[in-house]
Amino acid sequence: MMVTMKVVGLGIVALTVSLELFGWFLSRLRSRRTLNEVLFFPSKVACVEHTFTPNSHHSCCCSLPHSVETSLSHLLRRILSASTSLDVCLFSFSNMDLSRAVLLLHSKGVSIRVISDKDYSAITGSQIGILRKAGISVRCDGSSVHMHHKFAVVDSRLLITGSLNWTLTAVQNNKENVLITEEPDLVKPFIQEFQRIWLLNDPAQNYQNIKLISTVQEA
Ligand SMILES: [Zn+2]
Repeated sequence: MMVTMKVVGLGIVALTVSLELFGWFLSRLRSRRTLNEVLFFPSKVACVEHTFTPNSHHSCCCSLPHSVETSLSHLLRRILSASTSLDVCLFSFSNMDLSRAVLLLHSKGVSIRVISDKDYSAITGSQIGILRKAGISVRCDGSSVHMHHKFAVVDSRLLITGSLNWTLTAVQNNKENVLITEEPDLVKPFIQEFQRIWLLNDPAQNYQNIKLISTVQEA
């Protein structure tokens, strides 16, 4: 009886240990697969041509330093990793390098949606008009408060968020932070928030509302 209990006890201990080991192993495997990255700005000023055309850093002859990885080159690489979709939700978007990345993805057939703040999309240097002219779906948030988000979702998988507006000043001068993560618990709410604001600013919907209001007024 005593021996049997000891054997059962040992069995339970062994099972607990192996389950814990298995859990540890799983979490190791998961953390290795989940991308998490933090970038700080201002970014060092360096040529980013190689992020657009790999193997070109030997041939680029601009005056900026070459073969230097910077916060901006890391950010560009993450954005350019999009293969199916890119959703961008930005208060202010005037940075030419980041705009070039979005236009390049668009030319490759990546489905792109951009939400921006109504007031800031019209300021000098804003890339919003250029993106729209290129055929990219753009919606400007027209609510009375600022659409102050600064995030992007790549392939519904990768979240890029933080304090950084996609402007030259923010990239080169300001102290800013950007968090890049594939953590599904963090990515999912941002996908939902994007969808919410996107639908909220649906021009067809607004047109319906305007029609509805004028019909009511006429009646
Ligand atoms: Zn260069």
